[in-house]
Amino acid sequence: MKRLLFALAMLAPMASSLAAIPHPHHHATRTVAPAAQTVYLCENGKSVVYHSSRDCPAMRRCTHEVRAVSVNEAKAMGHRECMKCY
Ligand SMILES: [Zn+2]
Repeated sequence: MKRLLFALAMLAPMASSLAAIPHPHHHATRTVAPAAQTVYLCENGKSVVYHSSRDCPAMRRCTHEVRAVSVNEAKAMGHRECMKCY
């Protein structure tokens, strides 16, 4: 996952807050918080919205890493709902 590490390095100002969030290991997050919806972020360094689906038109334009997090994590990072897929 060299690209992901590179993307994180590009987000240096946000790196500290991102690093504090556990990586979304599938088996761990789903069992611990079954009610938390998974949302998707485009890690282009300027997107401030999260998406309900990877198939969102805005998501398809994303040329960077797509990060899957819980909706609570997305909100904690200051993201808001995408107007196209919500
Ligand atoms: Zn969307």
